[in-house]
Formats: sequence, C-alpha cells, structure tokens
Amino acid sequence: MLLLGGTGDALIIARHLDGADVYSLAGLGRVPADLPCALRVGGFGGVAGLADYLRAEGIGLMIDATHPYAAQMSHHARDACSRADVPLWAVRRPPWHPRARDDWREASDWREIVEQVAPFRRPLWTMGREPLAHLDEIPESQFWTVRCLDPQEGNARATIIDARGPFDLAGERALFDAMRIDVVTSKNSGGRATEAKLAVARERGLPVVMLARPTLPEADREFDDAAHALDAWRELTSSSSTT
Ligand code: NAP
Repeated sequence: MLLLGGTGDALIIARHLDGADVYSLAGLGRVPADLPCALRVGGFGGVAGLADYLRAEGIGLMIDATHPYAAQMSHHARDACSRADVPLWAVRRPPWHPRARDDWREASDWREIVEQVAPFRRPLWTMGREPLAHLDEIPESQFWTVRCLDPQEGNARATIIDARGPFDLAGERALFDAMRIDVVTSKNSGGRATEAKLAVARERGLPVVMLARPTLPEADREFDDAAHALDAWRELTSSSSTT
C-alpha cells in the first residue's frame, strides 16, 4: 500500500503499517524517523511518474491522506491510480461549519482574502505559508501575526510564529491577547487540532476570513478520519491473509 501523507491523519495510519507499505511525504515538513513502514520523501514527477512508481513497486492500493488543500496531489493520485489500475482510498476530513454567532467571510483566493482583511488592523494568519510571500505588501494600518511551519524572520510590520498544532483554547486566548488580534484568516482544514482559534474568534465576536476548499476528485472509498480508514485497511489485509 502507498500512503500519501503530510497530515496528522496520515501519520496515525502510517504508525500501523508494516515494512511492505510505503509512507510518502512531499518533504516540506518534519520527516518522522520512527515508522514501522518504508518512507519516501519528495515528488513523483507528476501523474506519469506516480503511475510508473505504482507499477514498478507493485502497489495494490493507494490511500490519499494528504491535506484537503493539497489538491494537486489528490488529482495526481486519482489520475495515476486510474492509469495504473490501482484502487484509490481517501481520507477526506470534513470541513468545519459556522455555528451561531460565528462571523465567517468566505474568500476564494489571495486577492479576496486581502480585500476582506483590509478594514482590520491586527490579522492573525493561519493559512500556511502564502502570507510570507506578501510581507513587503503589508498596509501601514496593519500589523500581521503569521503562524505557519516555516521558520523565517518577520519584519517591522509582521511577527512570524513557527508553531505546529494541536493548539488549545488557553494558548489561543493568550495569543489573541498578546497580539491584539482583530481578525483571523484560515483554511477550512477541519479536525480538532487547530479549531480552538475559531472558538476564541466566536467568544470575542471576531470575523474569520475562510479560504474556500478546493474541489477534490472522487476516490473509490472515502473516510472521514484515520480511524475509519485504518479499520477498513485492517479488514482488507486480514481477509486477504486468510484467503
Ligand atoms: P500540492 O500542491 O497538492 O502538491 C504539489 C506537489 O508536491 C505534488 O504535485 C507532488 O509532486 C508533491 N507532493 C505533494 N504531496 C506529496 C506526498 N504526500 N508525497 C509525495 N509528493 C507529494 O501539495 P501542497 O499543498 O504543497 O502540500 C504538500 C504536502 O504538505 C502534502 O503532503 C500535504 O498533505 C501537506 N500539507 C499541506 C497543507 C496545505 O495547506 N496545502 C497543510 C498541511 C500539510 P509531484 O507532482 O512531483 O509528484
């Protein structure tokens, strides 16, 4: 089995695999050193490269457990599995939904996010590394707090916080206080690890500018979380070992 990862869900599955299975990472983040399965790091070279890999390694199943915003990889996975005739499963983490008193404002790209954030002074950016490419464009009226996984220097108008979730309510409240946050930007990642910021925005009546989810291709089987995918994987491997 080939597991496409780079998420907490994928890591949960990877910890239950064995030496015949492969955990694949793009190589942008932390690479675990203590997995029971094989590990490969780096891209495959597009759909053709991935399809070649599936055939050359005799892969019998692919599980796409990449992040919901890693849409290119999910589309490559679908196309390569179709070409190589390999079944595709996917962990598709459900999105968060706004609750009563939430003030969410949807944006479909960077330009729309910047427009939505323009009236505010102290945005908290929690949507990955994209804001880092715009640190020279920060309006004079704003001071940015950017939390992402890329350690980098800030500047006079921005603080970069290099931190990895999970984040709890107390820590998020302290961050909002310390940085005097008045608006939050986020991907709609879903899951528990990073949702505390939404609760803090709710209790303070602050808006959240939410980047819309990309459209993902259909998989042959889809699971809400790692536990359900693991159950199905165990069922499959136990039935094939008894036949
Ligand atoms: P992407 O735009 O969908 O993919 C870009 C390219 O990176 C792919 O075409 C592929 O290169 C390579 N790649 C991506 N995931 C890979 C994997 N698991 N194994 C091997 N190659 C992979 O991806 P992204 O949004 O940059 O995300 C990169 C990684 O970070 C993914 O593993 C994702 O799960 C993780 N991540 C992403 C986010 C996010 O917000 N986007 C958040 C948390 C974690 P080739 O075409 O050469 O095969």
